[in-house]
Amino acid sequence: MTTSPIPFALPDITEREKAEVAATLDSGWITTGPRTKAFEREFAATVGNTHAVAVNSCTAALHLALEAAGIGPGDEVIVPSLTFAASAEVVRYLGARPVLVDVLSSNHNIDPAAMAAAVTSRTRAVIPVHFAGQACDMDRVLDIARSANLAVIEDAAHAFPTFYRGRAIGSLGDVTCFSFYATKTITTGEGGMAVTARDDWAERMRVMSLHGISKDAWKRYSAEGNWYYEIVAPGFKYNMTDIAAALGSVQLRRAGEMLEKRRAVSRAYIDAFSDCDALELLQVRDFDEHSWHLFVIKLREGTLRITRNEFILELKALGIGTSVHFIPLHLHPYYRETYGYSPEDVPAALDAYERSISLPIYSTMTSTTVERVAWSVLDVVNRHQR
Ligand SMILES: *Cc1c(COP(=O)(O)O)cnc(C)c1O
Repeated sequence: MTTSPIPFALPDITEREKAEVAATLDSGWITTGPRTKAFEREFAATVGNTHAVAVNSCTAALHLALEAAGIGPGDEVIVPSLTFAASAEVVRYLGARPVLVDVLSSNHNIDPAAMAAAVTSRTRAVIPVHFAGQACDMDRVLDIARSANLAVIEDAAHAFPTFYRGRAIGSLGDVTCFSFYATKTITTGEGGMAVTARDDWAERMRVMSLHGISKDAWKRYSAEGNWYYEIVAPGFKYNMTDIAAALGSVQLRRAGEMLEKRRAVSRAYIDAFSDCDALELLQVRDFDEHSWHLFVIKLREGTLRITRNEFILELKALGIGTSVHFIPLHLHPYYRETYGYSPEDVPAALDAYERSISLPIYSTMTSTTVERVAWSVLDVVNRHQR
């Protein structure tokens, strides 16, 4: 038996990505240019929307989306607590208040009832997070948002490619923000994309992504452009490079093939764990519409003699890399101290955090590796079952 460690996550980079990146380096144009424009067009077409603005992270995309929506001081934005730092910090960038709400314990997506209950006269937007790559209940989220006149800015960092009742994530809310961070389902190293059907918001995000300048560098310096530009607002420096876009275009073309492999991993885990009383799996609405970015197991209360943290250490000793998604935002010192949250204020997020372990799921895993992870999890359970 091989005992080399199995990392929690690994990118899937082939000779095709390397060739495109090398061609970009040889082309003489390495920052935002024709490859970024092509990647934007291809991505927008893939999710079935009008505009895609490529940026250097999903965090940047979320910030630009909220800025385009006009969020500012005095406003409230509803964010699920069980998410990454980025989903709420962007609200703070604009001086607004993130209102942290609970998730459904069945699938860790935003609880529509909690969202509806959090709406006040100051609420201007909601940021649903498609946890692990399964879509939130978007019919209910969009209904609540529409009746309260809220912008819907989706955090789709886990959700490419994901579908909600046959419709692609990226074609539903006002702006959908994707991540191409190294561990995500497609990667550009670092990168992100803001997708929208609104012409005015797309233009605003494009302008604000590059210093609030009304033309981008490519148009300014290439033959068809000219030297003149105007600063219309104090913008940011969020543009994607052509090196990253070259990587992204190839990853985009390979997204289906990589998803098939993650789907096979998820099926193997579900087969291995579904009869195990100590493990609880997240409910899946439709197996084929899930991007399978994460695979989370939850330890069932009272079934094991070890804690979740000890379970993680046992897996580590067996060479299995894991992670936890997420430490809820309301437990972190900044949000606790600024807004006075206590742990019990967001109970389902707290419970999800205390019992969850994320297992390795990525397209370069072999079936032997997947079996070893599953076998190791069951071995830890069997040795510590009550
Ligand atoms: C990774 C992640 C982000 C941030 O993506 P970046 O591209 O690294 O900025 C935002 N939200 C969630 C839920 C994430 O997992």
